[in-house]
Amino acid sequence: MDAQLLSERSEIRLSLYNTSLVSHSSASPEPGFRFNITRNVTPMNDKLPLIFDGHNDVLLRMSRAGEAGSVEAFTKGRNGAIDLPKSQAGGFGGGFFAIYIPSVPGDIDRFDAMNEASYDLPLPDPVEFPQATKIAQIQASILIRLQEIGALEICTSSRQIADCFERGVLAAIMHIEGAEAIDEDFHALDLFHSAGLRSVGPVWSRPNCFGHGVPFRFPSDGDIGPGLTGKGIELVRRCNELKILLDLSHLNEAGFWDVAKHSTAPLVATHSNVHKLCASSRNLTDNQLSAIAESDGMVGVNFAVAFLRSDGQKNVKTSLDLVLKHLDHLIDLVGEDRVGFGSDYDGADVPVDISTAAELPNLRTAMRSHGYDEALMDKLCHKNWLRVLEKTWGA
Ligand SMILES: [Zn+2]
Repeated sequence: MDAQLLSERSEIRLSLYNTSLVSHSSASPEPGFRFNITRNVTPMNDKLPLIFDGHNDVLLRMSRAGEAGSVEAFTKGRNGAIDLPKSQAGGFGGGFFAIYIPSVPGDIDRFDAMNEASYDLPLPDPVEFPQATKIAQIQASILIRLQEIGALEICTSSRQIADCFERGVLAAIMHIEGAEAIDEDFHALDLFHSAGLRSVGPVWSRPNCFGHGVPFRFPSDGDIGPGLTGKGIELVRRCNELKILLDLSHLNEAGFWDVAKHSTAPLVATHSNVHKLCASSRNLTDNQLSAIAESDGMVGVNFAVAFLRSDGQKNVKTSLDLVLKHLDHLIDLVGEDRVGFGSDYDGADVPVDISTAAELPNLRTAMRSHGYDEALMDKLCHKNWLRVLEKTWGA
């Protein structure tokens, strides 16, 4: 790393230390203030605790925007839901940064159908390994470049994430959403793991050599099609050996139960909601939630309005009360130690009141007004993620 990069890194960290976490307030910045997971918790304000979440699609968006310019934009402010200034403003401590391979043809038109009263989106065509691995390398290199300039730190332990919070550094987990970029002999898995990969979703909602994803349907449960292939079960075992978290969020029900049967790790759905409250095929039934609880796993509540609303519509005029409803149901069913957030920022339409990470104080305010005490706030905002990551990755 050259001297200029080192100096840029120091500046970025300094600005994290010294920036107020309040976005909708005229309060002046507090000199010397630092993100901290145990201290600085002031009841009835919007500042803390930091929110760490289970899913974002920043790397996809940045890869589309062009790598060089977008890395710079991340530190100064980009046209999207997550960047450094927005994280500082909203008290966003970091999360799972997904490496995602877009479908061909593009996904955008496909998702317009989610404005209908009911919909059944056809599964996209498979994406082959040579194409997928190239795109995955580009997105991984953006994350590595962000680390090089000091905008974030790629974390491989729960302790490192907590340490990032203490130091005022954005904490990132390298995650692959849909394993098309992994070859059947797992050479690429070893390479990505050595680059910091610690979380894999075997499929996105698209078939690959490891299994069958869940199509986007409403109303529908997720019991659609076969689950993991033999190679998919091998992938589960290899991820267990490498202590890579397995994400259940885009699996259909058969695939979910295949992972439940073969994985030795806690069951984790990084960005999924409650099927009983929103009958999307992407959401989890109470049976699935019970299995997650039994494994001492975790669910990250997805902000995507199509997975929150009882009518399944992509309508961003959606009250935060619905987020609280999903949280309450999850707390009842899987317990207050096994629920957190999985925003889907930069990958989904989300409620207007939390349209970017800078608006996260609105979510904390809603949670406090709903009666969640500070201990529960801490758990839901980040402590539960740290707990399940430590259980999955080891201390
Ligand atoms: Zn997703």
